[in-house]
Amino acid sequence: MAAALVLMNTYPLWVSEDLVFRAKATSLQNSVSVMVYSLSGLDRLNQENVAQAMAVVEETGLSRILVTDSAGKVLYDTRETNDALGEYSFYTEIVQALLGNDMASSSYRDGAFRSRAASPVLYQNQIIGAVYAYEYDAEQAALLEGLQSNLLRLSAGLGVAALCLSGLLSRALTRKIGQLLTAIRKVREGAYSHRAQVRGHDEIAQLAEEFNSLTDRLQTTENARRRFVSDASHELKTPLAAIRLLTDSILQTENIDPETTREFVADIGAEAERLSRITEDLLRLTRLDSGVMEPPAVVDVLPVLEQVMRMMSLVAQEKGTELTYRSEGTCTVLASRDEIHQIIYNLTDNAVKYSPPGSTVQVSLLHRGDLVVLTVEDNGPGIPEEDLPRLFERFYRVDKARSRDAGGTGLGLAIVSDTVRKRGGTVEAGNRPEGGAVFTVRWPWQKGGTQP
Ligand code: ADP
Repeated sequence: MAAALVLMNTYPLWVSEDLVFRAKATSLQNSVSVMVYSLSGLDRLNQENVAQAMAVVEETGLSRILVTDSAGKVLYDTRETNDALGEYSFYTEIVQALLGNDMASSSYRDGAFRSRAASPVLYQNQIIGAVYAYEYDAEQAALLEGLQSNLLRLSAGLGVAALCLSGLLSRALTRKIGQLLTAIRKVREGAYSHRAQVRGHDEIAQLAEEFNSLTDRLQTTENARRRFVSDASHELKTPLAAIRLLTDSILQTENIDPETTREFVADIGAEAERLSRITEDLLRLTRLDSGVMEPPAVVDVLPVLEQVMRMMSLVAQEKGTELTYRSEGTCTVLASRDEIHQIIYNLTDNAVKYSPPGSTVQVSLLHRGDLVVLTVEDNGPGIPEEDLPRLFERFYRVDKARSRDAGGTGLGLAIVSDTVRKRGGTVEAGNRPEGGAVFTVRWPWQKGGTQP
């Protein structure tokens, strides 16, 4: 803005001044030429013939006209007071004119344009004298000065307006940024519930909104983390407390019979096994959270399913559960073999675990359009509708005691859900109309045989 104002105050004036200079010099030169013309024809110049010739020249409104002879002696001077008649004039212009050059110049000084022009007077190619004209113009200079002062006033007004406006704008801006900074500092110090209060619809308000939604997510993540840590410690505490109780009982009971000792030690072993299952699952979840995954490959799900079925059939047989499976189409997905194994194992293990003896568990693997769909159905007790939305949360169990008795950690479905989602798939739980639970996993189908 300052640069624009400086330019506005200098450039037009500079251009107009230059134009006036040139116009003045040219017009004065023309006037001098007219005067030289009126003197042409005279073989030599003297006061009389010059005065006669100059008398017919129109009143030009010039401040001063001088006519000199070839030696520079003034023969004619229009200045009324203190004229220079008879004296020698050595104005630069006159000297130059007597040397045969036309001279014209204009300058501005002390609120007036001062223009000077001089030309030689020739007779038969001989310089017989010179005509010099001088113009003093304060009127046009005043006009230009008026323009200059108007421009100055306008610039001052514009400058003040720009200053006020930028002051107001920057104050509003710094206030908003200050509010946002305060909010950022508070959240950084741990006050996750604090939100930035910035009004308006500008970029800073949008930034504040983004910051608030980021803080929302941070708060949700932080809450989940706290809940997870407290749930995990609680889960680890229970078997540890049991182990402690059992060892205390062995140590404090005098003359304990070997049978009871064996029973207690077996219980300690079972609790230790549970501890290791929980820590294994926790580690698996931590790995999933960290985002470090095995590089994906095109995996045919069917051989993995067959392997899990072979493993599970023994457990199912023991419980009297009928375990069947079927498959349709080429079911290839982009994942790792271990992940697929874990997903099928967890879902089938749950179905067998939570169904009463004599139930049937059916697993089907189908290629449907651009999806590979795995369903694990049982005809057990199913899952209460109100528990369905939270079923995939970490440590969430419908029946805590039953899950513990069955050796569950409450992390199996959370692992399934995280693993499936990491590979772009989905998993959902529901109940069959005829009774029993049904879990459906959908992966994007990957054309077989090609490595990504
Ligand atoms: P857990 O280690 O307790 O089995 P999961 O995360 O695998 O943990 O499952 C969470 C809860 O979901 C279980 O505790 C159980 O109450 C319920 N559940 C899972 N699968 C079934 C099923 N097939 N039938 C009935 N309830 C189920």
